Amino acid sequence: MKKMPITKRIAVTMRGFSILKQYCPGLAQGKAMYELINSIQPFVSIWFTAQIVNEISSQRRLKTILLYIFGIVLINAFCALLKSIIHHVCNEKESQMWSWFGKIFSDKQMSLDFVDLENAAIQHQKQEAEENLYMFGNGLAQLFWGISALVRTLVLILLSLAMTVSLFVSSSGNRLVDHPVWILIVLACIVIGGLSKSKATISENDVFMEYCKNTVWFNRVFMFFGKELYMNSEKAKDVRIYNQNTVAEKVLDKLMQHERDNQSDITKMALYPAVAQVIIGMANGVCYLFVGIKALFGAFGVGNIVQYVAALSRLGEGLQELMYLLSDNEVYCTHLQNLFEYLDLPNHMYQGSLTVEKRDDNEYYVEFRNVSFKYPNTERYVLRDVSLKFKVGEKLAVVGMNGSGKTTFIKLMCRLYDPTEGEILLNGVNIKKYDYHEYMSIFSVVFQDFRLFSFSLGQNVSASATYDRERVIECLKKAGFAERLKALSEDLDTILFKDIAADGVEISGGEAQKIALARALYKDAPFIILDEPTAALDPVSEYEVYSKFNEIAGAKTAIYISHRLASCRFCDKIAVFHEGEILQFGSHEELLAEGNGKYCQLWKAQAQYYTT
Ligand code: ADP
Repeated sequence: MKKMPITKRIAVTMRGFSILKQYCPGLAQGKAMYELINSIQPFVSIWFTAQIVNEISSQRRLKTILLYIFGIVLINAFCALLKSIIHHVCNEKESQMWSWFGKIFSDKQMSLDFVDLENAAIQHQKQEAEENLYMFGNGLAQLFWGISALVRTLVLILLSLAMTVSLFVSSSGNRLVDHPVWILIVLACIVIGGLSKSKATISENDVFMEYCKNTVWFNRVFMFFGKELYMNSEKAKDVRIYNQNTVAEKVLDKLMQHERDNQSDITKMALYPAVAQVIIGMANGVCYLFVGIKALFGAFGVGNIVQYVAALSRLGEGLQELMYLLSDNEVYCTHLQNLFEYLDLPNHMYQGSLTVEKRDDNEYYVEFRNVSFKYPNTERYVLRDVSLKFKVGEKLAVVGMNGSGKTTFIKLMCRLYDPTEGEILLNGVNIKKYDYHEYMSIFSVVFQDFRLFSFSLGQNVSASATYDRERVIECLKKAGFAERLKALSEDLDTILFKDIAADGVEISGGEAQKIALARALYKDAPFIILDEPTAALDPVSEYEVYSKFNEIAGAKTAIYISHRLASCRFCDKIAVFHEGEILQFGSHEELLAEGNGKYCQLWKAQAQYYTT
């Protein structure tokens, strides 16, 4: 693993803490406070115990001994009370930690340019950061878990140092025993113990990192074959019919073997700490020997042996822990850095600042001026030199064969993508110059592949946690959902689907389309766009929905997309798309009059199915 410079590590760690503070407020601070009390408490006991033993082995004053006992009991009781309160508050917060972590990713996904949601490299980056965090706690969770150890270690080192100073300055009267070289020997032993522990930890971590890398990949493939292919009922049909499980099982067998090989690496990890423990034991032995000899020569009372032995061993533990924390910090900084690279992905879409002009005369117009477009990372133009102008308030139908570019045309108009060439204008101003969110707010779109979510019916229609119930009901009625609504026991509070609620209601494709229409109506935007949302319906039902929608759309600008021409003939203007180009543009009558045009051809071809 490439080493990260210490300054960078400090910056990354600080940013990690500020993210924890932002998304999990109070959690890190609570954990630090708990550990501070927890770490100081044993030292208080060590100090009081040493005083009691000294008193018993010297003057034996009962009052003084009782005072020490009272002190130890009182302080321990107070610490226990404080710890218990903080522990409970922290536990509550910690149980929500993973949900808060999830919000970090969802916030970023929401702020990404739409085009990046289809960028495989970016989505892979997100998946990797997420898997590392959720499967192993790598990065943010490690940082959080490390807080206790960091506070404990700092307290341990400071207090044990303070308690060992008198070991070196007290005099036994023997020149050999009091020689300053002992300070160096004892410190060297403590440092050797610390180093061996740290070395073991680094080696352990290296093996673990390799294991994580392989396991994340293993898990992804396993999830795909095990969960997606076998358990997803849509895919399971094909798997069963074409017997594709034999291919999947071969891959899984290979992966299992790979995983077994990894397991043997994991067992190697146990060896490193065992060797380190032997070295630490020997180093501690030398320190204890020094304390014993000094006491034997009368440098301090018997009670202080307890204090020094305990403090020295804690100092050793503190240094070991510090080394461990430093190497651990290096590991989680790498993961945090990966997470930050994802969180720092820039938005490339130009963000304008113009407000969308509110005009009383409704005299808006939209213009596509020589627009060509190819999807990111593809070479083929799916729209070519599209020019079209229509007035707001008009009803526009976009017709054409599947794949002719109709949906792409809408996506560009809603600024989900920017044109590769040319420009789109609203009232003569390039749409890029408008404030992005304000511009988006003027569109209500029912996409062909619209999605409803596992929220309540009311929340689905209003796209909001709180909403105007009357207006939601009104929109559902307009969309033709009135009858079904009556049958729902929880009314607007009925949860859709069973993802989060066992009593959620499953709805049919037709019902879902009506709810999606109601959602578009509730938004009450000046533009309303229907992108073949009725594709699953038969032509007659589709015609009903469209003609009704024309009535509902009223003065709004309505854009209908369909490959069924009968549904669109009542529109003011019809744009005929073919292989990414606009072949014809005009009213139904005008286009029919162009006897040899594409529209006339399509019309005749489709009409024969409906004439009876
Ligand atoms: P229509 O709505 O007329 O059926 P689309 O606008 O959906 O057509 O698609 C036009 C062309 O663009 C099709 O060839 C389709 O395969 C391609 N296409 C659509 N979406 C994407 C995408 N996200 N990435 C790459 N190509 C796409």
